[in-house]
Amino acid sequence: MMSLQPGDRVGIVGGGQLGRMAAFAAHRLGLRVSVLDPDQDCPASACADVTVASYSDGGAIEKMTRDCKLITFEFENLSADAIRQASCPVFPDPSVLETCQSRELEKNFLRNYGFPVPKFAFLSLTSSPQQIEEVCSLIGFPAVVKTIRMGYDGKGQWKVSTRDELQTVLQSITDVVILEQFVDFVRECSVIVARNLSGIIKCFPVVENRHANHILDLTIAPAPHLEYIAQQAEAIAVGIAEQLQLVGLLAVELFETQSGELLVNELAPRPHNSGHWSIEGAQCSQFEQLWRAVGNLPLGDSTPIAEEVAMANLLGELWHRGEPEWRKVLELPGIHLHLYGKREARPGRKMGHLTAVGKGASKQVIAARKLLCGK
Ligand code: AMP
Repeated sequence: MMSLQPGDRVGIVGGGQLGRMAAFAAHRLGLRVSVLDPDQDCPASACADVTVASYSDGGAIEKMTRDCKLITFEFENLSADAIRQASCPVFPDPSVLETCQSRELEKNFLRNYGFPVPKFAFLSLTSSPQQIEEVCSLIGFPAVVKTIRMGYDGKGQWKVSTRDELQTVLQSITDVVILEQFVDFVRECSVIVARNLSGIIKCFPVVENRHANHILDLTIAPAPHLEYIAQQAEAIAVGIAEQLQLVGLLAVELFETQSGELLVNELAPRPHNSGHWSIEGAQCSQFEQLWRAVGNLPLGDSTPIAEEVAMANLLGELWHRGEPEWRKVLELPGIHLHLYGKREARPGRKMGHLTAVGKGASKQVIAARKLLCGK
């Protein structure tokens, strides 16, 4: 079993902010980094050699990885067959990518192996009125319609409260969709789990995630007052990682229900926005843990370094009157500013984040971000 050595080159499909932060962590370990991205000027270009190509260009992946020890990916919407053409090992295995990039395969996988999920069923344009009736009585209303592919940050998703609303959505679709029970959750949380080639597993603590307009807004680590189900959340994440034979990182998004039950919403086999807090807030960040896991190195200590760590996203809206006045947050002790080097700010686009470590961290990051809004 090979292990990554300083001087080795690693590849990443995708040069967005996750690729950029993973590349920074790779450099700390003395590694060199290649990324494949359609945009020469992608966020990771600051710290990696960029191969400009489409994510489905297997030939470009094959060529780029001739001098790589291994390759990984920083998002799910890429072609598993293209990455299979890599000239080096791929971690996580492309079969894990396939399971997680299709809501159909992912939900069936979770249900078949007994992991707790919201009630769901599949429908298509050609479902008969009787089939629709059966699914509606099984799932009930309100419910959420989700596309099978390309869904993230609430995209490809519609809440429906009546049979008529469902019918309207079904008329606009071209593929199979999922009808899922709407979960009246108390909180959303997530666990990031790392598993290496030897099957050693480590979890980052379960964190609380607050969303605005379906996009992650704030993460608090560890999730406050969740001790009563933290072990259960970790057990679910570990179980999924083992069942998938994961080598790498996996984020498991969960709903905490009114009755204190946990339901798995989604899986992401890569670093995750809800783990950014770990750069300053854990002994070993999720990005370093990724390289340790895929590189057959000892897994790092994922323990938080303080009783509270918080991360607030900076979305494109903040730029509506031009470049925010960073000086206002740079003046604040204890606030860590991360900008992803994206040239164009669009509403909803993740442009950067703020982190604070220590008691009151969530209040601090929210207050710091407010200063930027006040321009
Ligand atoms: P997703 O793209 O599946 O991660 O969903 C984005 C967000 O939509 C989640 O973080 C939830 O806030 C919300 N959501 C997704 N599925 C459900 C559901 N079944 N019930 C209630 N809210 C949901």
